[in-house]
Amino acid sequence: VTHITDPARSALMKSVKQRNTVPEVLVRRILFSLGLRFRLHRADLPGSPDIVLSTKNAVIFVHGCFWHRHPSCKLASNPKSNLVFWEDKFEKNIARDRKKAAQLRRLGWRVLTVWECETRRPEKLKRRLAKFFCASLEHV
Ligand SMILES: [Zn+2]
Repeated sequence: VTHITDPARSALMKSVKQRNTVPEVLVRRILFSLGLRFRLHRADLPGSPDIVLSTKNAVIFVHGCFWHRHPSCKLASNPKSNLVFWEDKFEKNIARDRKKAAQLRRLGWRVLTVWECETRRPEKLKRRLAKFFCASLEHV
């Protein structure tokens, strides 16, 4: 990656999977408020999911909209330069996400993706999570 410009390189460095991001912490807080318990970053599972709810047989990935290409999302705008480089990078990210989710499903896990932009509307996200995890919505 020596041919890419400095802004692209610094963004590339940021693409290294970050843990305990602001959106991730918010999702955890909501789950906790719903009475759900979980573990974090289980390296023994494909893709090392951000949040694992063993009793619900479920995993959650909290995805940044830009890196994971949230469809029709404002946060997933196209970079202005080095488009070929970025498109290649994005395609690989998307392919990797799909592969990991498929592997997890084969192992019997339910896979939920929470997008970064969803964490900007916590009440709505809470309803979505409650629907996914709780038989009833009594906690909401
Ligand atoms: Zn988004």
